[in-house]
Amino acid sequence: MYNPKSLEAEEFICHEEILDTLDYAEKNKNNIELVEKILEKAKLKKGLSHREASVLLACELEDKNAEIFALAEQIKKDFYGNRIVLFAPLYLSNYCVNGCVYCPYHFKNKHIPRKKLSQEDIKNEVIALQDMGHKRLAIEAGEDPVNNPIEYILESINTIYNIKHKNGAIRRVNVNIAATTVENYRKLHQAGIGTYILFQETYHKESYEKLHPTGPKHNYKWHTEAMDRAMQGGIDDVGLGVLYGLESYRYEFAGLLMHAEHLEAVHGVGPHTISVPRIKKADDIDPETFDNGIDDDTFAKIVACIRIAVPYTGMIVSTRETEECRKRILKLGISQISGGSKTSVGGYFNPMPDSDDSAQFDVSDRRPLDDVIRWLMEMGYVPSFCTACYRSGRTGDRFMEICKQQQIHNFCHPNALMTLKEYLEDYASDQTKKVGYELINKEVELLEDNNIKLTVKDNLCKIEDGLRDFVF
Ligand code: SAM
Repeated sequence: MYNPKSLEAEEFICHEEILDTLDYAEKNKNNIELVEKILEKAKLKKGLSHREASVLLACELEDKNAEIFALAEQIKKDFYGNRIVLFAPLYLSNYCVNGCVYCPYHFKNKHIPRKKLSQEDIKNEVIALQDMGHKRLAIEAGEDPVNNPIEYILESINTIYNIKHKNGAIRRVNVNIAATTVENYRKLHQAGIGTYILFQETYHKESYEKLHPTGPKHNYKWHTEAMDRAMQGGIDDVGLGVLYGLESYRYEFAGLLMHAEHLEAVHGVGPHTISVPRIKKADDIDPETFDNGIDDDTFAKIVACIRIAVPYTGMIVSTRETEECRKRILKLGISQISGGSKTSVGGYFNPMPDSDDSAQFDVSDRRPLDDVIRWLMEMGYVPSFCTACYRSGRTGDRFMEICKQQQIHNFCHPNALMTLKEYLEDYASDQTKKVGYELINKEVELLEDNNIKLTVKDNLCKIEDGLRDFVF
């Protein structure tokens, strides 16, 4: 029986409720009256239920779809302004005991080189990332209790936070590792992680079990209830996502929103972020062998509908997507992107093509970070390296409260401008600097609160004088 408040995976992600939702959406996809009613509710910018959002996702009415996209753009602007937060993934180890059929790290893959970074290797990787200008990382590792135990992950986080090289600093480490125990989540929390990210891959239990035939990840219940354990362990910010291409996207969409509703119902706070990965070609993986691939138009519609359904949840797109695709969905709802990414173990310090042989998947957007930053600014976005919320204790429900009141701009915008200035001073090419200084001057003048404007101006001068790390 469907129960969003239950702690049982099969009750809060209830298969029958998803099927009913899909049926309801299919029957009503061209029901103008209902679609209009849902859009009216959506315009209140307080979100939609999985049922309502599923109707919008299924809707085929041309002018209503245009309204859906326009509303997503508006909500994006209202909640996130023109800021885009930057991060990079850091692959610690590709040892893995699972048998995930879409991932080249599956244990049966005997020809992919297995690599695990030592603490010395991590220093090299992090210095290379700092020298690009990154301040925020997402660490990634396969699941392997012997090679990648929690102690290794904790030691690595500690190493990362303690590397001070020139003006560089990693100020927020998000973690994407396999589902684990409350006790281990507590340890991650104590290590000062930002968001704990875990992709569900698919919410469809039967498919999930087939796609994860062996290893601890086979256990749907353990995986699906991971976010509840993470929150019990004290982690405030969790990141959801499904791997599009594995199952029907409408099923996944409904499941994802039910998961968000469940977290809100039980813990009083929904997910901090939602990622939208699509399956990619990788060593011994051919995406064509999966039946549920989605085209770019469908992908854009999913992003727009997520934006409308959960307005205050950040949305992440990685370099799995091309420059063109990223450009299209940025305005529909994306608030964070990765840039200059390597998905191989050790790929930042040793960027030679042969170091990519341990990569998890092919990246489509291969531009260096400097190009990505300039590209964003030329489109009118303010790239942000901000990590202030988490360092100032604005996490979980405290963050959501500010966000729901649309007050987050007063913090985020000044922080974005100051961290962008740090980036320009320390790492940008001359061409990027030129575009950036102009943008910052313009954006500072647009700040509405006079006190904030004066403080930002003052801090920007101090950054020029070599001072760093100002936080609102
Ligand atoms: N081992 C951890 C786990 O089980 O969640 C970490 C996950 S892995 C390093 C990060 C994510 O990459 C996976 O959750 C999966 O969704 C995604 N991934 C795996 N293979 C992929 C592929 N071929 N193309 C695109 N994304 C892929």
